[in-house]
Amino acid sequence: MLVDAATLYFRAFHALPTSLTDPQGRPNNAVRGFLDGLRVLRDAHRPDRIVACWDEDWRPQWRVDLLPTYKAHRVADGEEGGDETPDQLAPQVPVIAEVLQALGIPVVGAPAMEADDVVAALALAAQEPVDIVSGDRDLVQLVSDAAQRRLLYLGTGVGKHTVFDEAAVEAAYGVRPERYADLAVLRGDPSDGLPGAAGIGAKTAARYLAAFGDLEGVLAAAETVAPPLTAAKAAVLREAADDLRSALRVVRLQPGAVTVPEVPRDEAALQRLGDRHGITTALRRWDA
Ligand code: MN
Ligand code: MN
Repeated sequence: MLVDAATLYFRAFHALPTSLTDPQGRPNNAVRGFLDGLRVLRDAHRPDRIVACWDEDWRPQWRVDLLPTYKAHRVADGEEGGDETPDQLAPQVPVIAEVLQALGIPVVGAPAMEADDVVAALALAAQEPVDIVSGDRDLVQLVSDAAQRRLLYLGTGVGKHTVFDEAAVEAAYGVRPERYADLAVLRGDPSDGLPGAAGIGAKTAARYLAAFGDLEGVLAAAETVAPPLTAAKAAVLREAADDLRSALRVVRLQPGAVTVPEVPRDEAALQRLGDRHGITTALRRWDA
């Protein structure tokens, strides 16, 4: 089980009140919610191993260079994954990392890599079936029945997560997982600052991809105005072609070099962390 940790701790933080505190009175809602959420997912899917994938860089410069609007609004808004993590969440993030390692769950990140890219690297290298836990649709790209890779997608919450295999991806998006990036680029994605092609929504984008294969196929069809493209839509696509190609490089996952350390469970550390951060009950539930 590869966990996109940031999506889980942001959801935990927003799902539980900051009136939940540790013995010093500091909010520990995200720590508690993260542990409880991960436990629910573990119990539902019974992985042999869990690895927590960390955003060492939530907005890598190389992606911003390709697409200046990439996550640009999050810098200002302090939304999920932004560098303006809410003040009451920020101090809980390193605690979550510490607790995970004490539980024997490695925390893996790498410079200039989003958690998305870390997940991709580990998922593609895995020799065994992989369940990916994330609230980020970009990870749909990794779903593969042949490789036994699924996405446990956290929509509104952990309890109501959606299991994406290839059929579920096609039912939801109208494309196969390996074409999800092409779809996202054509459709656009406001939450990541992807502009898309004006007037082309998700359904139309899926129809074009079904007709022409991939983004390059759609752009080639725009040159000759091949049906089902209309002259107006073809003109939009020709105009946007270079930006769409750049956006595709941004959306595609970039599996870099990452290694997973062996992390032994540390009972003394768990005792200390449980007392200090007021999470002995959550840790007891983890082991129950
Ligand atoms: Mn991400
Ligand atoms: Mn992403």
